[in-house]
Amino acid sequence: MSSSSVTGYMARAAGQVLERVAYPEPVLKEEEVRVAVTHCGVCHTDLHGVDGDFGVFAFPLVPGHEIVGRVTEVGGVISGLKVGDRVGIGWQGRRCGECEWCRAGDEHLCLHIADCGTWTPYGGFASSVAVDHRFAYPLPADMAPETAAVLMCAGIAVYPPLRRYAEPAARVGIVGIGGLGHLGIQFAKALGCEVTALSSSPGKEEEARTFGADHFLLTTDQGAMEEHEFGFDLLLCTAQSGNNWRNLVMVLTKNGRLVLPAFTPIELPLVGGPGSGPMVDFVVHQLSITGSFLGSRADMREMLTFAHRHGITPKIELLPMAQVNEAMQRVRRNQARYRVVLVNE
Ligand SMILES: [Zn+2]
Ligand SMILES: [Zn+2]
Repeated sequence: MSSSSVTGYMARAAGQVLERVAYPEPVLKEEEVRVAVTHCGVCHTDLHGVDGDFGVFAFPLVPGHEIVGRVTEVGGVISGLKVGDRVGIGWQGRRCGECEWCRAGDEHLCLHIADCGTWTPYGGFASSVAVDHRFAYPLPADMAPETAAVLMCAGIAVYPPLRRYAEPAARVGIVGIGGLGHLGIQFAKALGCEVTALSSSPGKEEEARTFGADHFLLTTDQGAMEEHEFGFDLLLCTAQSGNNWRNLVMVLTKNGRLVLPAFTPIELPLVGGPGSGPMVDFVVHQLSITGSFLGSRADMREMLTFAHRHGITPKIELLPMAQVNEAMQRVRRNQARYRVVLVNE
């Protein structure tokens, strides 16, 4: 077996299943590290990738960006990482380094972010990846690899907006109890918030409480929703579908904030009736909608430390890497409880 070949799972075109293929190892650039992948989580963005959504994914595509593995090779100008180190890698694998956002340390806002995905040229559903060493994060030694994998994208999606926008003791609603939501509940609770899980599935109440939710609100119960008018300072909306935006606007208090950390299709019914309706409420109640895209490298380090300190633990199904298509189907059908992590044998 040649050591210069990678085994990965590749979609040759949009909409195709992933095929097991071998391709040459990318030549390592000076600032890059090569990492042998042991674990890789499956994220909704991987589905967007193979579906060819957003126009930012190039084919052939090897998805995968919730990576844990060991450094096997380092480029010429790297300090701080050495062969054998265990690292986590998330959505961002490189940066332009020259735009105003990179210079300010907000590299996740890089003007060329579409070219900076970890899957360029090949992602983590593979035996190894090569990324800029800045985006390979050393992990706490006793953090389980599958936990770390999920934190690399789902964790960094929900922690920074909660940290930034939720005051201590804020009334926070986590909308949707899935991969992101079940972590959002844990992070919000650990940050000292009063946490309500909002879900359309009554069967998720008990588990939501084990994740730390103080309250549970069934979003399909119109009466219960109306009782919570002005009930939340912040809503973190992680549900991919089925959101009743009119109700979500209704339950936000004055100056409240609706945070969107995922690529959730949003349709605000902005034309309300005279004197009422979400458009008027948005203005009169001084509401905000805030998009939130992952976080900076400082956010990532802080999130890992915080998660470790507070024992934030995603609930995970493990599958062998060879079952990647089955794993993708589970995520697509909303069957994952609550995140699937692929393991390289
Ligand atoms: Zn992701
Ligand atoms: Zn940049």
